[in-house]
Amino acid sequence: MNGEIFFRDRTLIPVWNKVQRGERLSLEDGRTMFATPDILSLGKIAYFSQQRRSGDAVYFVLNQKIEPTNICVLSCKFCDFATKAGKPDAYEMTIQEILGKLNDEIHEVHITGGLHPEWEWDYYLDMLRQIRKAYPEIDVKAFTAVELDFFHKKFKISLEEVLIQLKEAGLRTLPGGGAEVFSERVRRLLFNQKIGAKAWLQIHKTAHRLGIPSNDTILYGHIEKLDERLEHMIKLREAQDETGGFLSFVPLAFQPGDTGIKPPNQFTSAIDDLKMIAVSRLMLDNFPHIKAYWVMLTEEVASVALNFGADDMDGTVGGERIAHDAGAISPATLAKEQLVKIISDAGKIAVERDVYYNPLNIHGEHVIGKIPYLNSVPFYAQLEKRKFKILPVTPRRMGVLAQKGQMDAGLFSLMDYLRQKESFDLVPYCIATRDHVKSVMLFSNHGWKDLDGKTIGITDDTATSVQLLNVLLRKKYGVHANLQRMHSGVNDFDQFDAVLLIGDDALRANKFGLTGFELCYDLATEWYEWKNLPFVFAVWAVRKKLQDSLKAELDEIIRLALESSENIPEIVGEVHGKRIGLSTEEAGEYLRCFTYRLGERERMAIETFQSLLLAVEVELT
Ligand code: SF4
Repeated sequence: MNGEIFFRDRTLIPVWNKVQRGERLSLEDGRTMFATPDILSLGKIAYFSQQRRSGDAVYFVLNQKIEPTNICVLSCKFCDFATKAGKPDAYEMTIQEILGKLNDEIHEVHITGGLHPEWEWDYYLDMLRQIRKAYPEIDVKAFTAVELDFFHKKFKISLEEVLIQLKEAGLRTLPGGGAEVFSERVRRLLFNQKIGAKAWLQIHKTAHRLGIPSNDTILYGHIEKLDERLEHMIKLREAQDETGGFLSFVPLAFQPGDTGIKPPNQFTSAIDDLKMIAVSRLMLDNFPHIKAYWVMLTEEVASVALNFGADDMDGTVGGERIAHDAGAISPATLAKEQLVKIISDAGKIAVERDVYYNPLNIHGEHVIGKIPYLNSVPFYAQLEKRKFKILPVTPRRMGVLAQKGQMDAGLFSLMDYLRQKESFDLVPYCIATRDHVKSVMLFSNHGWKDLDGKTIGITDDTATSVQLLNVLLRKKYGVHANLQRMHSGVNDFDQFDAVLLIGDDALRANKFGLTGFELCYDLATEWYEWKNLPFVFAVWAVRKKLQDSLKAELDEIIRLALESSENIPEIVGEVHGKRIGLSTEEAGEYLRCFTYRLGERERMAIETFQSLLLAVEVELT
């Protein structure tokens, strides 16, 4: 949608203008959005913002919820789940019982529970170790900030050490629970023994620093005020500016159950739920994903929320008790097929993901991969208006999905195209550099020759840049380094002698520096000075068996997109550039580094690279 919105409430127009320009919304804008009766226009603004980030993708994960115990030392007023030891409904799970709830189909286990007064620290570490041992493919998302704070105080281990030990035992990410509402007034009234906003945020920021991404929630629809919801979002937005470690935001509609809390309307209305989703999407401009948590919203509202800015349905959520104990009327679990149907019925692509939001499988037709970096922006403006569905995905994941037959076309990493050229036709467009790129960078503490025998952390996002690095090391400089993939989403840079980053991460690090590294090398410059040729990082390709009419349409759309954008790179790159900290001029200057048509020199560059590659290609798929 580029679209015109016909506003019934004209107070939303300034918000719409800011969103289109990629400007940050204020508290006052938030108040305007909550106050509007024009819910459909608000939804359209949020939808526009979501499409710009995640295209037509709606994510879900095959997951299992485990609540190891409901025995808790606290008694938060809004909690209908916790109890005390000895009560008839109290339960404790053994590690064997936890393992018994898992199976090979699941990709994520989500563990949270009561603060047990007697369990030892080793129980928690053992739980994660044994899950990892029995199910290495299952990612563990576990322990709210409240639980982590409890471990730190009970076992007298520094918070940092708690996180380090859990990470070593298998913890991948943190869930977002325990945030409730970042308001001292509400905390004093409803959960006064629990940590407040400051401690919650500090714990999450520490986790991000240690390479553990996390999620965040807000519990709304009880005694909080609308301004308190907005202040919660603004605090999170500031924290995300600092660390970039939040993956998703999850608005949780309060379920009163038998808590004794009597919200003004008994339970949240669908209108309030949809407004929360839309306002969250628009206020949290630096959060990648907004979740429609169907367990609390119900399937019907969650499905509508996919057109109000949400791009994640959580997952199958086997075994959930906390919300259901409090009276949630949703089913106990959803089958994968049900989730796919809900998402497809909303006109979206259902994307089965892992805990870091890497796509594992996609369910949808005519799916085109979109490299989610600034350099590919000129290609996509027109595509978003046509019959294709757009999935933003890193080049390497695009290659994997294409190999599974789940991607019909896209701007493929050159290596992925070369490996799959039996199944794909080239479309004569590409991303090629002239003489430098600024976004394929080696950050190092050593000169090229001194990298012999050193360990280089390499991005998990692409194969082409990695092979270019390999060619430069081996053939240009004659050195052998040990290349090690870094886990996507986890920035453990300090364990490497150098690291290779690409895309927006590299651009940002090129501008602001990368802590721990003093030198940086532009790989396209290294190539150009050596071969006097451009370097082709990605090429457009389309599945051979796609109908000819669709192929022709795609070719035409790309041509028109380039024609309309190539003389105005500042305008084309402005909004995306702002998101990653570049000025309009910097974004324009960056986009001028590239040529987008596959001409003679680009084809010659591919051939030269291929011949060098034959001698040195490493097995890093
Ligand atoms: S919300 Fe969490 S900490 Fe509070 S009583 Fe319930 S389980 Fe315990």
